[in-house]
Amino acid sequence: AKAAGRNTFRFYDEAMNRHAIQRLALESDLRRALGRNQLELFYQPQIRTIDNGLAGVEALMRWRHPERGLISPVEFIPVAEELGIISELGRWALQKASRQIVAWRQQGLPVPRVAVNLSPRQFDAPNLADRIEEIITAAGADKSWLELEITESTAMQQPERFIQILRQLRQRGLQVAMDDFGTGHSSLAMLCAMPLSVLKLDRSFVEQLPDSETDVAVAGAVVSLARQLRPAVVAEGVETLAQQRCLASLGCDMLQGYLYSRPLPAAEFETWVRNRLA
Ligand code: C2E
Ligand code: CA
Ligand code: CA
Ligand code: CA
Repeated sequence: AKAAGRNTFRFYDEAMNRHAIQRLALESDLRRALGRNQLELFYQPQIRTIDNGLAGVEALMRWRHPERGLISPVEFIPVAEELGIISELGRWALQKASRQIVAWRQQGLPVPRVAVNLSPRQFDAPNLADRIEEIITAAGADKSWLELEITESTAMQQPERFIQILRQLRQRGLQVAMDDFGTGHSSLAMLCAMPLSVLKLDRSFVEQLPDSETDVAVAGAVVSLARQLRPAVVAEGVETLAQQRCLASLGCDMLQGYLYSRPLPAAEFETWVRNRLA
């Protein structure tokens, strides 16, 4: 019995070790990913409900790992946060997206704006608004072409700081979207104090449309709240025509999801836009 126990322990130990080794390998690879040009931005369109036009794109990060292939941000963004390198990645993403929209406009591709995600950790950096402005301006982009997405739960971790940064960003002519709206816990009072450009209705409220009466009511309430407070509403995760029709009838301003396109590498996104215009 004692031997068996020791064996079990040894297996457990080895599994732990393997996991720890994989994790360490991932960490050291991630530290070098940026310098080795392994990070990429994919782009997903946001469509205006009113005329089906392209309202903008969201930039979503991907890691092209030489052995493991394309790695999802769900897997590596939390690791980057723990390693304390998320700010570098975030800076890179903002720079890349800014340069990309400049290039698109020079090519005459009608992309009105590009949205970039900010992580909770980036949020703690001093002079955040100044640093963001510098990156965009250095890339030759107009600040009104950029939008910064911050999740509701990040915003609500430090609401006072969020409102302060939001004001600074808006004063500089930048747009700010509250991402994953409905999953955090903003109060009405907080929402009223926030000069947001966009509310992004979280995918979890879109999924069950139009069958769930509760979710229809929630989506409708978010749209009418936004009408009063002025931000535009983007619905995330739109996959079906039934969802599209429901959200359009509720007065949702913009739609984003696989129904229109998955996030695409820049070149494929350009083809998508050209085909749509043709
Ligand atoms: P998010 O910001 O909420 O991005 C939306 C996610 O939903 C994306 O996943 C997108 O591919 C996915 N999506 C879009 N349309 C649909 C749809 O119709 N159905 C379904 N099921 N999913 C859809 P992705 O690209 O894997 O990104 C996951 C998360 O990783 C993002 O969630 C964001 O939190 C984070 N992330 C991605 N890029 C960055 C970045 O550059 N910086 C930071 N800090 N976080 C990022
Ligand atoms: Ca987002
Ligand atoms: Ca989201
Ligand atoms: Ca999300």
